[in-house]
Amino acid sequence: MAEGSSPNKIEYEHATVLIVGAGPAVGEMILKHCEAQSTFRVKWQHRFVRLKQPGDTKPIEVLAAGPVGEKFFTCHYLVGADGASSSVGRSLCIPFEGFTWADFRFMATNVKYDFEKYGFTTANMIVNEEDWAVIARTGPGDEPWRVAFGVRTDIPTAGLPEQLKEKYERLLPPPSNNPIGGLGLTTGFLDAAALGNCLVRILVGGEDADALLSKYERVRRAAWINYTNKASTEFKLRLHSTNPEAVADREKFFDSLNNDPDIHLKAATQMNEQVEDMFEAPASS
Ligand SMILES: Cc1cc2nc3c(=O)[nH]c(=O)nc-3n(C[C@H](O)[C@H](O)[C@H](O)COP(=O)(O)OP(=O)(O)OC[C@H]3O[C@@H](n4cnc5c(N)ncnc54)[C@H](O)[C@@H]3O)c2cc1C
Repeated sequence: MAEGSSPNKIEYEHATVLIVGAGPAVGEMILKHCEAQSTFRVKWQHRFVRLKQPGDTKPIEVLAAGPVGEKFFTCHYLVGADGASSSVGRSLCIPFEGFTWADFRFMATNVKYDFEKYGFTTANMIVNEEDWAVIARTGPGDEPWRVAFGVRTDIPTAGLPEQLKEKYERLLPPPSNNPIGGLGLTTGFLDAAALGNCLVRILVGGEDADALLSKYERVRRAAWINYTNKASTEFKLRLHSTNPEAVADREKFFDSLNNDPDIHLKAATQMNEQVEDMFEAPASS
């Protein structure tokens, strides 16, 4: 230690369940519910760095970088809710499976514009090989509208501002109205609710953790692969693809939207069918 310096105070803390992450968009709502629980604490500005699992029966050790230095936590369960670039996943050498669309960059912008005047309804999708987009309300009244679209990946980042100006000029006049559903966050809510139920059954009900968490992993992974990823891919291709198969699917889909009075009910039911098990505690006899 250099002369005159003092050792950093290292802080340690224990938690039964430690959750890393939780995004800001719905943060306020979640925070309100969390703060109502006496056993829940929030540590702001702490970045997960690494973890160590000394053994099956010992608590997990977690290192976080806080605003005034490092902080160590121990916990029995660690929930990595830290998004697509999850440091918790990387720390455990869990690969982030899947793929990245190489044709378009997704751009999501919030725009104040009188879309209603031009015939837009709450959620609209614009189908076009180049200028496809989803335009939807983010809230009532004066709240901005979400305009999400793709910009080709071969356009260098430096050229984006000019592209955006031209894109808006092309996108904003034409009206179009068909529903589209966002699925990432929605699926995440279901994951979180199911995991919460599992943890209650393990920590309060004393059920076998390995068996329950293995089943959770299998069920929620299958829901993602068989429904969320599939539907999200279909949504994207429906907006712009000229592939004959995608074109035929699009026509069939629009035909159902126009002619099948039960289409919305079917879409909602299809999503519910994916909820194989929400892991509620079995009813006691
Ligand atoms: C523009 C856009 C529009 C979308 N629209 C919709 C929609 O309409 N409907 C829908 O269902 N889905 C939508 N999605 C998808 C949805 O936002 C994501 O699927 C969802 O946010 C993923 O949630 P998550 O909790 O896994 O990760 P995130 O929301 O990414 O949250 C991860 C959190 O972890 C924190 N974090 C990261 N690293 C660390 C670390 N080392 N230590 C501590 N904290 C860390 C981050 O700061 C962040 O707060 C949209 C996505 C985008 C980009």
